[in-house]
Amino acid sequence: MARVLILDVDGTIADRDKESLYPAFEQWLSEQNYTHGDTIAFATNQGGVGYGNHLERAGMERGIYPTQTAVTQRLIELATQIKQIAPDVRIIIEVCYYYKDNMSAGEGQAYHPLRRKPNPAMLFSIMEKLNYKFDELLFVGDSDDDILAGLSAGLTHAGKFGFKLPLWECHE
Ligand SMILES: [Mg+2]
Repeated sequence: MARVLILDVDGTIADRDKESLYPAFEQWLSEQNYTHGDTIAFATNQGGVGYGNHLERAGMERGIYPTQTAVTQRLIELATQIKQIAPDVRIIIEVCYYYKDNMSAGEGQAYHPLRRKPNPAMLFSIMEKLNYKFDELLFVGDSDDDILAGLSAGLTHAGKFGFKLPLWECHE
């Protein structure tokens, strides 16, 4: 049985800008026995990147807003920690760097407005990469935008998660 776990990042598996997983998530993940053939994916809005780019292009300091490189390194670090718990899983990382109207800059698909949750684009990207072949899909997120993205992608609400997270579940 191929299993897919899609995760929001900030507030769901780690604090914003922090590079360590929540202990409760590590504990839960270690009990799930994700293994070879399974996938763990991130679907994360990182609009601070687009906003930081916007500030720089306007001649201002980007301040607390991270660069795309910094965000990428952080997500890889979090993925590496996941691999320490579930070494055989495939990891997929989907990011949206778009912030909002006229306050976001950057080139490429990851900066596209329609990619940003609550739009379901990142969820569909992940499922496309798997050719829609899986037996079980869980999507875990902590915000209304996550819930809306899940609804838009046709995922079924399954209830509250053990460490105060909404849990989305869908069976083919
Ligand atoms: Mg979140």
